[in-house]
Amino acid sequence: MNKIQGIHHITAVAGDPVNNWRFYTQTLGERLVKKTVNFDDPGTYHFYYGDKQGSPGTILTFFPWANMPKVRTGNNQVSATAYAIDENSMDFWTKRLQEQGVEADAFTRFGQAGLAFADPDGMPVELIGVQDAPNLPVWEGSPVPAEHRLRGFHSASSTIPSSPQSLKLLTEVFGMEVQGEEENRIRLGFGGEKPDTGGLYDLVVDPKLENFGLGAGIVHHIAFRAKDIDHEAELRDAVKEFGLYPTGHIDRDYFMSVYFREPSGILYEIATDPPGFTKDEDLEDLGTGLKLPRQHEHMRDRLEKVLTPIPPEED
Ligand code: ZN
Repeated sequence: MNKIQGIHHITAVAGDPVNNWRFYTQTLGERLVKKTVNFDDPGTYHFYYGDKQGSPGTILTFFPWANMPKVRTGNNQVSATAYAIDENSMDFWTKRLQEQGVEADAFTRFGQAGLAFADPDGMPVELIGVQDAPNLPVWEGSPVPAEHRLRGFHSASSTIPSSPQSLKLLTEVFGMEVQGEEENRIRLGFGGEKPDTGGLYDLVVDPKLENFGLGAGIVHHIAFRAKDIDHEAELRDAVKEFGLYPTGHIDRDYFMSVYFREPSGILYEIATDPPGFTKDEDLEDLGTGLKLPRQHEHMRDRLEKVLTPIPPEED
């Protein structure tokens, strides 16, 4: 069977949409590649941030609810989202985050230097310096100089109380390989054709950590890449055979998705690379229009009135 290709996207819950937009586009320099609504709650946004074209492996998405209480990350959750940067960009980012009032802690993990900080809702984000950073297309609208731009996901970390079944799923069904262990962290790599971005996934084992539930600052789910719908169907069958309960294929407009809870309870998704974000907007215009799924198009006038303008009017 074809192996999983890497991380496709990560989806989280946010508080205020303007603060969220400002942090990811103005501080981190990502592009808002799609502005749509929560299909189940169309009076609220769904934002997709990524590289210039919203490549799989670069996409962080948010459901912002202005009054959502903040929650601390706990067990059985994706506990950190890490972007790759060029290893020579570490000083730039240390200074930039300081200037923007973002407190960051330096760390070293598997020999690579990183910076750990939180987004405006307290969600843990990391930047990790790499050699041969993926040469992703440059988004000219970014306030971050091209050489220092984020280079897609380096990895994600999930924290769980015990590893055996969660690990088994990743190695036996997803085809990932254990690349190393450091303290209570198990590093896995995607064994397929080497993905440019999102090629690593860490399981952090911490039996003492509580589960704090869902709120602003919490990752809702992590999606892994399938080449196409046939590959996704193959993976879905394998997940079922493993004893888990995947949904059917759900059309998310920009990809086809299957969801299931992995053995520790983390919500996983398998998402196809096609059709991608240029399905309904030209590359140059990505993220500028309010895109509504067909079933909500009749509400456009009302939604345009209730949704806070993004970019905010003062910017
Ligand atoms: Zn998703």
